[in-house]
Amino acid sequence: MSQEQFVKDLQQALGAEVVLVGDAVEARYHTDWSGTPPVAPWALVRPRSTEEVSTALRLCHAHRVPVVPQGGLTGLAGGAVPVEGGVAISLERMHAIEDINARSAVMQVQAGATLQAVQEAAVEAGLVFGVDLGARGSCQIGGNVATNAGGNGVLQHGMMREQVLGLEVVLADGTVLPMLRPMIKNNTGYDLKQFFIGAEGTLGVITRVLLRLRPMPQAKATALVAMPSFDQALAKTKTWRRSTTPKNPPRCSSPCPSSWHKAASPCMPAPKLAPPVKSSPRWPKKASLT
Ligand SMILES: Cc1cc2nc3c(=O)[nH]c(=O)nc-3n(C[C@H](O)[C@H](O)[C@H](O)COP(=O)(O)OP(=O)(O)OC[C@H]3O[C@@H](n4cnc5c(N)ncnc54)[C@H](O)[C@@H]3O)c2cc1C
Repeated sequence: MSQEQFVKDLQQALGAEVVLVGDAVEARYHTDWSGTPPVAPWALVRPRSTEEVSTALRLCHAHRVPVVPQGGLTGLAGGAVPVEGGVAISLERMHAIEDINARSAVMQVQAGATLQAVQEAAVEAGLVFGVDLGARGSCQIGGNVATNAGGNGVLQHGMMREQVLGLEVVLADGTVLPMLRPMIKNNTGYDLKQFFIGAEGTLGVITRVLLRLRPMPQAKATALVAMPSFDQALAKTKTWRRSTTPKNPPRCSSPCPSSWHKAASPCMPAPKLAPPVKSSPRWPKKASLT
């Protein structure tokens, strides 16, 4: 199929407003911060929903047209630069902060939300988001996930992988994978989302992200400390880490009736609740909470 016919089909399926071609594709979509030589794509798709991403990918797949996902184009490795004879998909119009649950410290966003928008929404809810980097005003959460970004909070909170509870991803053939479970403890089979974190868009287009938020620190202090040797610096870091870890961190309750009440007590006052398991072959005695 010719380039003209393919682009016509794409515009027919998604609308000329979503699929830009020729001079309508601004030069900034031709390359990223890496300085890689620019490439003009056959078309730039700017979807507004997961369904539109799916339609675009399905058509590209059917006609074997390569696709490059684009976030905020701040990547330094050239991964978002279009390929010759390919289509670029920019997530910039899918930028909604869809939901924040301050109690469970979870936020759901569309992949095109900027890192800064996520950080600000977290602070408004009395929480913080663990990743921060210089490109925060332009880079997008989808791009941060696709590059497994580190940034300047990495020692405290870990890389992007540590902040992701769930993803919605569209595969190359248009199939939507909904992996948006907000549970930290979730071992129901393969943890497929891990494949897409750090994959630079090679395995699918990320359309939604479920993020883990952190408690707002009660105080912050910055010190510049000069140490006589690397070994002493390492030893000091160990001491500081130990001194900022609570002695008795709250523990989760166990499903074993005999230990449930005891384990729950550091977290909450004695609850007037029935134990989650009354009896079982392993714990034959009827449990009592009083
Ligand atoms: C000033 C500055 C400071 C920086 N500091 C850091 C830093 O401290 N730590 C760090 O790790 N990086 C840093 N970077 C690099 C860059 O900001 C990060 O890699 C960022 O995560 C890229 O996000 P982006 O939205 O701009 O992605 P893009 O550059 O648009 O894309 C990057 C890659 O992700 C893919 N991609 C983008 N969106 C999606 C999506 N929705 N689904 C699937 N794939 C997608 C692209 O195809 C490409 O392969 C910095 C860059 C700048 C300019």
